[in-house]
Amino acid sequence: MTKRVTIDALADWLRDKEDVLLLGHESPDGDATGSTLAMWHALRAMGKRAVVGLPGGIPLLYAGLPGAGEVRDTGAALPFEPRTALALDVSELPRLGEAGVKRFEACLDRAALDHHHTNPGFGDLYFLDGDAAAAGELVVDLIDGLGVELSRDMATCLFVAISTDCGHFNYSNTRAKTFEAAARCAAAGVDVAGITERLYRTRSAGRTKLLGLVLAGLERSPDGLLAWGRITADMLKEAGALREDKEGVVNYLQEIEGVRIAVLAEERSPSSTKFSLRTKAPLNVARDVAVPLGGGGHDCAAGVTVDLPLEDALKKVLALAREAITNI
Ligand code: AMP
Ligand code: MN
Ligand code: MN
Repeated sequence: MTKRVTIDALADWLRDKEDVLLLGHESPDGDATGSTLAMWHALRAMGKRAVVGLPGGIPLLYAGLPGAGEVRDTGAALPFEPRTALALDVSELPRLGEAGVKRFEACLDRAALDHHHTNPGFGDLYFLDGDAAAAGELVVDLIDGLGVELSRDMATCLFVAISTDCGHFNYSNTRAKTFEAAARCAAAGVDVAGITERLYRTRSAGRTKLLGLVLAGLERSPDGLLAWGRITADMLKEAGALREDKEGVVNYLQEIEGVRIAVLAEERSPSSTKFSLRTKAPLNVARDVAVPLGGGGHDCAAGVTVDLPLEDALKKVLALAREAITNI
């Protein structure tokens, strides 16, 4: 049985647990990476053994975070056999990836903390606040609930988690509590100028080239309400880009004047395509596009992987997106 609990109940549950595995989702982003690493620091401060597992290991963009060197690929060997699993920023069990699901299920005690409305809940217990801008916003409360003082290292990881998930306080999910959590981090000594320089005012050459390639090939529906772009394996090679370099690219499509739904299709293999979907309220791409195809996410920022070649998968997704716009 999976039980939905309060943040304090989750803290109470975690307080006497040992040998904790902190898990993030596939294609780990700033929130998954920062939230798991912040919890790693907090559990260590409590004298517990802990390890972070992220599918594929630490993303290069976040390799400078304190404790990043301790992050393991979820599928790789761990320094100890975990007894407790805590999933952070994971919208549903399969988003842990195959190895992550196995690890999670092999643990004696299992819990999740998340901020995706579509999360059905998993583990023995879970805490979900679908209005939070980032899981990191909630991790601040969890650390408070554990009675651990927010250190500079924890705060650095959490500032990255929070600021990346709300588009640096730019997206509609940004709420008063988002600023309050970020202010707590700043007060704990985070190098805000250094982090924002690295994350928001610096772009690798490969990332820049990839952005150019996607924008050069962008398409729009005749009425201008839909915009879509593609990232193929060949484009990644041509740009000298990493998979993680696609983060944020879909925003450029969504920001085109008049566009209601933006779709970025990424070729994962000849028969599998990952989609990033963006919209603005009252449209809902999680409910109307991602979930019907087996994905999930937030109302205005969702994703799904479709087991079809890129062009076939794109047709399906665009048809649902068009329907969503028509039905509004
Ligand atoms: P992305 O477009 O990859 O930045 O993801 C946007 C949102 O959708 C994030 O909150 C993800 O957690 C969620 N999401 C992305 N891909 C998937 C997927 N394959 N299945 C379920 N949710 C996803
Ligand atoms: Mn995430
Ligand atoms: Mn998140």
